[in-house]
Amino acid sequence: MIQNKIIQDFPALLMQENGKRLVYLDNAATTQHPRQVLDATISYYEKDNANPHRGVYELGARATKAHENARKSVAEFLHTEPEEIIFTQNTTESLNLVAYSYGLEFIKEGDEIALSVAEHHSNLVPWQRVAKAKGAVLKFLYPDESGHLTDEEIEKKIGSKTRLVAIAEVSNVLGLRAPVEKIVSQARKAGAVVVLDCAQSVPHMPVDVKKLDVDFAAFSSHKLYGPMGVGVLYGKKELLEKMPPFLSGGDMIQSVHEQSVTYGEIPRKFEAGTRNVGGEVGLEAAIQYINSIGYDEIMAHERDLMEYAIGKLKEIPYVTIYGEASAQYRHGVISFNINDVHPHDTASILDAEGVAVRAGHHCAQPLMDYLKITACCRASFAIYNTREDVDMLISGIRNVRRYMGLGN
Ligand code: PMP
Repeated sequence: MIQNKIIQDFPALLMQENGKRLVYLDNAATTQHPRQVLDATISYYEKDNANPHRGVYELGARATKAHENARKSVAEFLHTEPEEIIFTQNTTESLNLVAYSYGLEFIKEGDEIALSVAEHHSNLVPWQRVAKAKGAVLKFLYPDESGHLTDEEIEKKIGSKTRLVAIAEVSNVLGLRAPVEKIVSQARKAGAVVVLDCAQSVPHMPVDVKKLDVDFAAFSSHKLYGPMGVGVLYGKKELLEKMPPFLSGGDMIQSVHEQSVTYGEIPRKFEAGTRNVGGEVGLEAAIQYINSIGYDEIMAHERDLMEYAIGKLKEIPYVTIYGEASAQYRHGVISFNINDVHPHDTASILDAEGVAVRAGHHCAQPLMDYLKITACCRASFAIYNTREDVDMLISGIRNVRRYMGLGN
């Protein structure tokens, strides 16, 4: 099986935790790194490190090349042009850039911003701030009982007053893909721009920003087997050109005088200060790693894991799964609770068995309110997970109620 080979690429997965093999099922929070990513990052620091766009010397030129090559690779990955790719620190910063630069400039009093109640806080709080500053109105789309956004709900909430739609392609709690095509077509009718949070989609499926015709898209390197501290924002050229800068300072200018400034061209206008080039090189290596496996293989494997895990979980009568429990719609994430057990207790007992899952509100508190829970457990999968990992999760879950003295 290819996973046995893949695991060998990931030093962190060869570790023992609590005397047991680590079963890492918190990939929606952050993924582990293959040796290829670690090597590329180390090699950059050993051979090419300087401040890009500054030095005229050869080493500085190599750093600039590394920075711009990484941008090219990200552009190809999203099926767009390098000038439409901005490097940030993470998805959160990418979304804040759009909120502060596009939102504060172009959203006006009485305009509506449409977003799903399932948004991660990083695709909600910046829009709350824009709405407050500009007197705009937040309109929430609510999923149906199975966790999906229906056509009816989309048509009802995205209308003539909507100026911006902010939506996650895949929810970090429900693991379901939003009907992006329908949302974009409705937004076009309304004349609204679409901001797509791809943090949980790019690890599991190809994203073609041109085909989807979204205006902005954001993701984080660290959820895609790349280093922390690097994020990506895609923006349509015509929008980026008319937007004011987000952060300002060195490297984003053309010229500065005592009382005036002209800004650099895109994308540099949005990249103030020294960049995390080592991290960008690591992200480029992560993209190469994903391409070397191929999304067809990744998706087939993850579908198999989802089917296997959901099938096993459904056999346990005291487990509640949030969102439609069907592998067909799931992308890497299964959130659940065990009846009468606090999710933190479940996660602690699983940890003792060497199984790492996340418990909490997953930075999606409005969704927790909507589901009428305060927290849940989340098992999230990646290319290196196996059916044996699922077996470990299930056997751990079967022990939880017994350990809590609640019987089976
Ligand atoms: N959006 C979604 C859907 C996420 O899952 C996350 C991370 N959990 C984020 C945004 C924020 O990502 P980051 O912390 O890397 O900025």
